[in-house]
Amino acid sequence: MSDCIFCKIIAGEIPSSKVYEDDQVLAFLDITQVTKGHTLVVPKQHFRNMLEMDSESSSQLFAPIPKIARHLQQTLGAAGVNILNNNEEVAGQTVFHTHVHLLPRFSQEDGLDIRFTANEPDFPALAQLAQELYLGE
Ligand code: 5GP
Ligand code: ZN
Repeated sequence: MSDCIFCKIIAGEIPSSKVYEDDQVLAFLDITQVTKGHTLVVPKQHFRNMLEMDSESSSQLFAPIPKIARHLQQTLGAAGVNILNNNEEVAGQTVFHTHVHLLPRFSQEDGLDIRFTANEPDFPALAQLAQELYLGE
């Protein structure tokens, strides 16, 4: 896509700090470095986000992620890694070319704070919702 910043990075029209590349995927450092080694993994083919991808294209995108995440963890001496993907503005997506964030974690006070609201479990409501959502095998 001509006006997509990540397509321009993939085409080499905009510089990036490359960490990994294969036929389908490019991984480069996020300019904001929320934590040290913060990396974006993107498919070379343009998709708006994960909601537009099929299983083949998403499998190709995810295939190298464990190895890149392990490499970041080991090389930087991180204690863990968050793997994150935002789809649409409401979910925090700001660049509309699918990307997966890999965020090496050094401590719980290293600049990234992801906390889920802990609601009391409502088991009948869960059962009802699962019935509505059940997709099959
Ligand atoms: P999102 O909020 O869409 O999940 O994440 C987009 C990410 O892309 C942000 O973390 C932002 O820092 C990063 N980003 C935006 N423009 C550029 C750029 O030109 N180069 C690099 N390396 N990262 C970028
Ligand atoms: Zn693109």
